[in-house]
Amino acid sequence: MAIKSLVSGMRLTGYYFTHHKEILTQEYPDNRETLTFGERFRGEVVMPHDENNEHRCTGCTACEIACPNGTIKILTKMEVGEDGKKKKAIEKFVYHLGMCTFCNLCIVACPTDAIKMSHDFEHSVFDRKQLTKVLNKPDSKIVKGVE
Ligand code: SF4
Ligand code: SF4
Repeated sequence: MAIKSLVSGMRLTGYYFTHHKEILTQEYPDNRETLTFGERFRGEVVMPHDENNEHRCTGCTACEIACPNGTIKILTKMEVGEDGKKKKAIEKFVYHLGMCTFCNLCIVACPTDAIKMSHDFEHSVFDRKQLTKVLNKPDSKIVKGVE
């Protein structure tokens, strides 16, 4: 039985030795510059900002509620809008990357497409505090028209 399984494994190894184009594995990290990912690869939750340092997050907390393990914490504040009325705005979007299971539920729950999954996957750090991130950039504000 052991011999049979050894021969079967060696046959497969021999096949890929002569059929290089069919090899699916990639030589990471030597290929960092040319590394390719599937479009749906989930590396990290991020909040895109445009060239005016504006994002689409209203601070509604739907993502925080949807997250099954408390990875997201939304801190909000009250701001006076151009119309003179007070309205809720995001102060900090805290994301604990070390706790994230990349389930995508927060992304699906967001009504304004304010967050998405990036392809970044190299998350090793020496201090786990560095895995706690604030996703809204300093002095950023919400894009006009997003409520
Ligand atoms: S991907 Fe899942 S675990 Fe990670 S923050 Fe979103 S809902 Fe929470
Ligand atoms: S990221 Fe989306 S769901 Fe989360 S608080 Fe902001 S607007 Fe609401």
